Amino acid sequence: MPAERAPVAVEVAGLTTSFDEVRVLDDVSLRVPAGAMVALLGPSGCGKTTLLRAIAGLVAVDAGQVRVGDRVLTGDGVSVPPERRQVGMVFQDWALFPHLSVARNVAYGLGGDQRADTDRRVDDALAMVGLAGLGDRLPGTLSGGQQQRVALARALAPEPAVLLLDEPFSNLDAALRAQVRTEVHALLVRLGITTIVVTHDQEEAFVLGDEVAVLSAGRIVQHAAPTTIYERPATPWVAGFVGETNVLAGRFDPTSGVASTALGSLAVDLDDDGQASVGDGGPVDVLVRPEQLRFDPAGPTSGVIELVEYHGHDTMYVVAAAGLELRVRVAGTAPLARGSTVGLRVVADRVRAFPRAGD
Ligand code: ATP
Repeated sequence: MPAERAPVAVEVAGLTTSFDEVRVLDDVSLRVPAGAMVALLGPSGCGKTTLLRAIAGLVAVDAGQVRVGDRVLTGDGVSVPPERRQVGMVFQDWALFPHLSVARNVAYGLGGDQRADTDRRVDDALAMVGLAGLGDRLPGTLSGGQQQRVALARALAPEPAVLLLDEPFSNLDAALRAQVRTEVHALLVRLGITTIVVTHDQEEAFVLGDEVAVLSAGRIVQHAAPTTIYERPATPWVAGFVGETNVLAGRFDPTSGVASTALGSLAVDLDDDGQASVGDGGPVDVLVRPEQLRFDPAGPTSGVIELVEYHGHDTMYVVAAAGLELRVRVAGTAPLARGSTVGLRVVADRVRAFPRAGD
């Protein structure tokens, strides 16, 4: 099966695609290291599915290149047909044939030269996804999670070099989704197959992705490890898309590297080249995650708790302070009551800051 072969990298360079003269992918470059799982994250309509389909050879591209390992699949005058790309795809709606047995659905993915070996490949693929012995059933007699795994088995049976998953868990209800996601995650880690998974769900992207590529309006705006995307978002939009954030008005002093805010003077996270994304100084928006705020009677500002949302593992408070409604996440304590007065302090070593929107 796929794990026995050395995994290969996927390289997308300068990919541009339009539908009806509307540009849907705009000069997209993306590298997926061999054996890694990259989550492609973005809002509805930003071009995620189109990028997957372009890699699979299912949409024509205006420009750019797709390589898998040392094979050029698209570009340089080449367009390898989908069935010869060794790219397996699981579609958002799974696209199972309801009138065909599970085994025949899985066999459908096999190429002509693989048919001699159909029974073994189908059995292996079903065993791999934990559905051994269910080959004679019709898809409609299986649970949602099992149908999802049939779609995965069909994509894996031809032993693809690359696996593409398009919103693979969105058809499942919330309770089942987390469980199936963990099972599929464990399987894909074990197989070590190079994988791109498309999702609009930040948690899913962070859980599954060794790396996350954030797509907005047909462009990659940041591609990094999940921790980097969360802790050092490239833009305020990325910060808001991958989690909750408070925005404090501040003034940045480039000499000291500090922004002054209603919650005190805060050291600003400079970019790797030593430049602050905040520019040369002046008005800035300082981004503070809810868990970067603490209740502290000696804190630089105080406020009143307006709302308490208890989650068990932590509590989210909405606190009216400094003319704002600040969200504060506190782990592992008994909730304070609505109406309590609390002091507030930022506990992050450094905070992200960007030039004030509109300035
Ligand atoms: P979602 O999360 O909602 O599936 P997405 O990020 O996957 O969205 P795409 O499905 O790639 O987005 O679509 C990107 C844009 O391209 C959308 O505006 C969509 O309407 C348009 N589009 C996609 N496929 C076609 C097509 N075959 N013909 C015309 N326009 C298309």
